[in-house]
Amino acid sequence: MRPEIAQKEIWVICETNDGIVASASYELLGKACELARGKDCKVGAVLLGYQISGYAKDLIAAGADVVYLVDHSELDEYNDYVYSRLISDLVKTHRPFIVLMAATVHGRAIAPQVAAALKTGLTADCTGLTLDDNGQLVQTRPAFGENLMAEVICPATLPQMATVRPKTMPMPSMDYNRTGEIIFIPYKPKGPAPLRLLSKKKTGSEFSLSDAEIIIAGGAGIGSREGFEKLKELANAIGCSVGASRGAVNAQYADYSIQIGQTGITVRPKLYIALGISGAIQHIAGIKASGYVIAVNTDPNASIFDYADYGIVCDYREVLDYLASELLSNGRLETSRLDQAFKQ
Ligand SMILES: Cc1cc2nc3c(=O)[nH]c(=O)nc-3n(C[C@H](O)[C@H](O)[C@H](O)COP(=O)(O)OP(=O)(O)OC[C@H]3O[C@@H](n4cnc5c(N)ncnc54)[C@H](O)[C@@H]3O)c2cc1C
Repeated sequence: MRPEIAQKEIWVICETNDGIVASASYELLGKACELARGKDCKVGAVLLGYQISGYAKDLIAAGADVVYLVDHSELDEYNDYVYSRLISDLVKTHRPFIVLMAATVHGRAIAPQVAAALKTGLTADCTGLTLDDNGQLVQTRPAFGENLMAEVICPATLPQMATVRPKTMPMPSMDYNRTGEIIFIPYKPKGPAPLRLLSKKKTGSEFSLSDAEIIIAGGAGIGSREGFEKLKELANAIGCSVGASRGAVNAQYADYSIQIGQTGITVRPKLYIALGISGAIQHIAGIKASGYVIAVNTDPNASIFDYADYGIVCDYREVLDYLASELLSNGRLETSRLDQAFKQ
């Protein structure tokens, strides 16, 4: 039997990305508000980090009724061991009945550790959530290569935990007239973490993938790491984000952190340019919400062309060279030509 619900709070474990609250955290707060509506429960936002107090007003504006902040210089660098222990302790103390995290690189690392520490279940990578009148969270996620949508419940233990794919829930509108409670939790270090971050290296492009409006993605057809570096250079110069298929990741042209698809990131750009990607169903699963898709492939029968709005049958190098010569002039971006080129 599941224990009685002590405190009817739905928690969203928020995260920051390059110094700002990740849009996936706002999306989850919007969803949590929707779940809480008419159910006599509150929405709690939890944020860990350093010099993060200023974000409390944004989390309240996005729908949090209570904001739990753990603000300490030792939390400046993300460490999933430290973060998951802190979150587990907070959940044990405050006992929310639902805990949601974004299925980002951090959320995917922390959520299983928290669920294991709390001896509860976790549904990873959800694309839909509903709450019934008995407080049962119905967690929907794709299964069997996206051919089935599974509905998962966690009837025996609390909290009910889910990670949710970024970009599958809409952004809430921010209401800065909302009021909420802010609770500062003192940070108590629990001895040295077994893992320490020694250095950080940026992979992919300089621009975040999940919020990107234009993505240039490369597949196994890019053929070499050097080819992928060229793709990145162009993307960085014109301000696009870089993505990769699993084929490119397996061939070690690109890092897993930029893999798009069923077992990678879900993206929602206005324009998705797929270079040397065959169009496997698992890749398409991550780009379904894109505006326009342009595919470049040497094989006229590649299945990406069944999905793309525009298809170009040629070597991807021709397209990279064309974009470089059209958009970059003397090493500088010709912004006026960017819109023009993508409209063509
Ligand atoms: C459970 C599961 C989960 C998976 N999750 C993912 C996922 O999250 N994301 C993902 O992407 N895949 C995923 N896959 C793998 C997926 O099935 C495909 O194997 C993968 O997407 C293929 O990558 P690719 O298109 O880059 O490579 P390939 O299928 O090898 O395609 C390369 C393409 O490049 C073209 N090409 C070659 N040379 C050139 C050139 N010079 N110019 C232009 N085109 C060229 C070829 O014609 C070909 O179409 C998953 C598979 C499984 C079973």
